[in-house]
Amino acid sequence: MSALTRRGFLEKLGAGSVAASLPLLLPSVHAATAPYNGPKLNVALCGLGNYARMLAEGLQASQYCRLAGVVTGHADKAAAWQQQYQLPPQNIYNYNNFDGIAHNPNIDVVYIVLPNFLHKPFTIRAAQAGKHVITEKPMATTAADCEAMIAACNKAGVQLAVGYRMHFEPTQQEIMRLGQQKAFGPVRYLEAGLGYKTYNLADANDMVDINDDTQWRLHKTKAGGGPLMDLGVYCVQAARYVLGEEPVAVTAQFGPVHHAQRFTQVEESITWQMQFPGGAAANCTSSYGFNIDKLYASADDGYFELSPALSHGPFTGKTSAGILNIPPINQQASQLDAMAQYIINKQPMPAHINGSEGLRDIRIIEAIYKAAQTGGVVKLV
Ligand code: NDP
Repeated sequence: MSALTRRGFLEKLGAGSVAASLPLLLPSVHAATAPYNGPKLNVALCGLGNYARMLAEGLQASQYCRLAGVVTGHADKAAAWQQQYQLPPQNIYNYNNFDGIAHNPNIDVVYIVLPNFLHKPFTIRAAQAGKHVITEKPMATTAADCEAMIAACNKAGVQLAVGYRMHFEPTQQEIMRLGQQKAFGPVRYLEAGLGYKTYNLADANDMVDINDDTQWRLHKTKAGGGPLMDLGVYCVQAARYVLGEEPVAVTAQFGPVHHAQRFTQVEESITWQMQFPGGAAANCTSSYGFNIDKLYASADDGYFELSPALSHGPFTGKTSAGILNIPPINQQASQLDAMAQYIINKQPMPAHINGSEGLRDIRIIEAIYKAAQTGGVVKLV
């Protein structure tokens, strides 16, 4: 990942701070630009669950794309979305007739918001239909699936992006800058954690029905793993984008376990460590058993931290020089607009948000699982 030049605010606290000598008091990242009046990309959301609703709001706020269609397994949802967003009936698909989208010139992009195991087949089907693809994180449940998705999109000549909204969020952009540009010197140690006690698991009750289709996150075959796949991917991303380096080795431990009867297929919690080539170490955790949402980076001449750090925000934090106070934005609109511009301008999706980035994360996640299972050090080439 390359060093970022995008800049954010830093509200200094106290005189004589490290920030006084650093170029951190900067103009807003949201300097007004002329409104875009060109053609918009037509996006079809595939899978109308919880996150699709947030993306629909993002599409409403977007300048460069619009919600043009949906793909859903439920006729009642199709009718409700069609009415709410005034969608033409010919832009409504189900999972069986989806391939007919190939003949629909009024859909440019399929945005896949399905359970993780369906990212691969629907990416491939969308690519074969000649549509650009944005797929949600984690990109797929295995690295081999990521490779197949990249190959299918390359073969079809369509763009493939992963829904890495953090890359378009100004607080995250600021911590990328602080880390990669060594604003407080080189980062030596980093902690990142994201966990939700009852995240999308119906309730805090231990008797969650694993046969309930809405509980796909508890199924190894559907989710690919537990909180590491779902939430830990944000910690892996954060360590990588703060340091601007790729980990070379990982160790990991499962646990703690408080709800063994619920987590029969995927881990309830996992903690892992990543070693980076510049000498930095990262200690990370993700969980469905406890709440955590933080990031801390210790550098030679100071520190920076966020909490909330890796969820949906608003993100708040501080550095050894003062409070980090950057106004929140609509992250989905920001991500969609940035990705749409690459497609509209026929520029390749950059490496930090395309399929190769999703693949890198899944390779690291596979190494973390292997390390937790074996108890050893797993090296990444
Ligand atoms: P939900 O369970 O809320 O929604 C998934 C939808 O997929 C369902 O509503 C259903 O839509 C469709 N679906 C099709 N087949 C199945 C199946 N076999 N089992 C269950 N659902 C099925 O999940 P989320 O919206 O929370 O997550 C979807 C994806 O988005 C995941 O990959 C997740 O990691 C990612 N995500 C990303 C976030 C981000 O911030 N970037 C935040 C949250 C999730 P329908 O009824 O229309 O067929």
